[in-house]
Amino acid sequence: MRSSPPIQRLVAALRRLPGIGEKSATRLTFHLLSTPDAQVHELAEAILRLKQEIVLCAECFDLTDASPCAICRDPRRDASQICVVEEPADLAAIESSGGHGGRYHVLGGALSPIDGIGPDELRIADLERRVARGDVREVILATNPTAEGDATAHYLADRLRRSGVRLTRIAYGMPLGGDLEYADPVTVGRSLANRREME
Ligand SMILES: [Zn+2]
Repeated sequence: MRSSPPIQRLVAALRRLPGIGEKSATRLTFHLLSTPDAQVHELAEAILRLKQEIVLCAECFDLTDASPCAICRDPRRDASQICVVEEPADLAAIESSGGHGGRYHVLGGALSPIDGIGPDELRIADLERRVARGDVREVILATNPTAEGDATAHYLADRLRRSGVRLTRIAYGMPLGGDLEYADPVTVGRSLANRREME
């Protein structure tokens, strides 16, 4: 039996989400059909408002509902320590480890010449500006332990060396090629605590 167009349309839209195949998309669609109207509206509205109300923090470039974000506004956070991550999900992973009391800087990815991502595609100049303001003492390079993440950390260390700030790299408690986003909080906390000076 062929599904009607509205069903096909939602199945096709859900299938574009990560981790959702044809089977899950179909199951979710039929689940929504039997869900009360009010709940379906709430879901649809939450999805729409996500893109309308989330902005980038002008300071750290994390996703937030108000710029500067709660972390950048918090006077208890140590402004002399900036932890540099690739993506907002990595920042979230470090926050849930509870191992960092300073601020963050979200690069927006890692250097990857094959994909056309060079230094100008990342928020590196913004990081330099923050460091140049003078209240930063340490930059923790917490890019992922992948080839791209490592290359990015070394590139940043070279660019920031002149500034005289302490440059550290998170330790490899995590499996090589892993992603902070998917590591457990204890492992993330340990790799932060065991960070080493960049040579
Ligand atoms: Zn911020």
